[in-house]
Amino acid sequence: MAAKSQRNVPKAKSVDSVTNDSVTNDRVTNDRVTNDSVTNDSVTNDRTASQGQWGRAWEVDWFSLGSIIFLLLCAPFIVYYFIMACDQYSCALTGPVVDIATGRARLSDIWAKTPPITRKAAQLYTLWVTFQVLLYTSLPDFCHKFLPGYVGGIQEGAVTPAGVVNKYQINGLQAWLLTHLLWFANAHLLSWFSPTIIFDNWIPLLWCANILGYAVSTFAMVKGYFFPTSARDCKFTGNFFYNYMMGVEFNPRIGKWFDFKLFFNGRPGIVAWTLINLSFAAKQRELHGHVTNAMVLVNVLQAIYVIDFFWNETWYLKTIDICHDHFGWYLGWGDCVWLPYLYTLQGLYLVYHPVQLSTPHAVGVLLLGLVGYYIFRVANHQKDLFRRTDGRCLIWGKKPKVIECSYMSADGQTHHSKLLVSGFWGVARHFNYVGDLMGSLAYCLACGGGHLLPYFYIIYMAILLTHRCLRDEHRCASKYGRDWERYTAAVPYRLLPGIF
Ligand code: NDP
Repeated sequence: MAAKSQRNVPKAKSVDSVTNDSVTNDRVTNDRVTNDSVTNDSVTNDRTASQGQWGRAWEVDWFSLGSIIFLLLCAPFIVYYFIMACDQYSCALTGPVVDIATGRARLSDIWAKTPPITRKAAQLYTLWVTFQVLLYTSLPDFCHKFLPGYVGGIQEGAVTPAGVVNKYQINGLQAWLLTHLLWFANAHLLSWFSPTIIFDNWIPLLWCANILGYAVSTFAMVKGYFFPTSARDCKFTGNFFYNYMMGVEFNPRIGKWFDFKLFFNGRPGIVAWTLINLSFAAKQRELHGHVTNAMVLVNVLQAIYVIDFFWNETWYLKTIDICHDHFGWYLGWGDCVWLPYLYTLQGLYLVYHPVQLSTPHAVGVLLLGLVGYYIFRVANHQKDLFRRTDGRCLIWGKKPKVIECSYMSADGQTHHSKLLVSGFWGVARHFNYVGDLMGSLAYCLACGGGHLLPYFYIIYMAILLTHRCLRDEHRCASKYGRDWERYTAAVPYRLLPGIF
């Protein structure tokens, strides 16, 4: 699927080398959508205003500030509430509220029944994170040497707002494979620990994940102020909460290779995702004597998503998380706590409710999940292929329609880029999100209709991706100016043609 990666932007400042041979200082605007052609009709200076305006906001409005304070205060409790509701109320979300409202329980009773942090959980978590750090930093990728089509090893990210191009050691697939090899070796041969170990320590591990999440976000904030990796890529809004939540540094690093965003986004959270599901399946078998088809479906569909993520880790360097978001609590705490705990709710639910689906229901869920994955992957691949080949490719068997665009980095350099108007990117401006939403719905539907809790994921993803879509479009509009307007005129809908 992925081919050898090439740079998709004019050369900019690399952390290792500074090469600006195809960067110009004039600005170009384009007035037509063309088939594989470049149209630079007029040169203007009006994008000076957008210089440095892409990436996260410089100024905070009251709505953003309110949302941020709400999330900082409530997100940890939301995670706790869901996990506690499973532990104490068999995943009935209304259970704790009803008990408190009717006086059957007090908050202190619920808290008293919550398992505390334990030495065992702390040791486990430390071992887990240390193992992932070692796999990330000490084992250069060898998968790309023998897996045809896989792009790993040293790869370059996109140009940052300051005009820097970072290099990354792409070895996530290798980390995932080795971790899972060890997991299965333990389950079938070594018996060092029980495969239910994650479930059995789920709440004590939650406290450890929170400690890491807060520690890394706080460290990133302090680092951004006092010893940033790239000072010109830092953003300070003057608002402490916004800076803490959305991050100051764009690409914080320790040393040459330890990149916070790449590490925390992928490992420990996403490597753990499939292990957590396996542990839930093991617990279901221990408790109920068998693994249900719903649990198998959740494990398989989510494993496809996770493996896809690591197989395409190089592509991931060009997604919003890496290209636009700064590293703060949103990514740091989110990757350590929110992702592993809330993305795995279906598997957790199925431990308490061993749903066995009818064959038509199971087949329907499988088809929805696979079609969703297909749209997600093909849409993302189309954009990736288009950008890697600079538009010299076929999309749905035809030369792609292109909108030429330009933007300016903070160093005043003008760069040129292209927007794809064919394939799924001509259907809607974020049809890749639609595929993701279909897959997410499939995981939830695998849990039947007994409770609301497993449906949290689709509700959350719908909000996340709609908000992300709006955020991204706001950024693209300030990055590309009139060129972005030409794209929205050519492709009027964001997610679903005729609806939104
Ligand atoms: P996209 O992959 O859609 O990337 C958006 C960026 O692509 C834009 O900022 C712009 O960047 C570029 N772009 C936009 N339109 C075009 C076009 N027509 N042609 C070429 N380039 C274009 O967004 P994400 O990074 O958010 O998502 C990547 C995938 O990850 C999605 O499929 C999403 O569903 C998934 N995802 C999953 C999450 C989860 O929690 N499960 C969370 C977030 C994302 P540029 O500046 O380069 O032009």
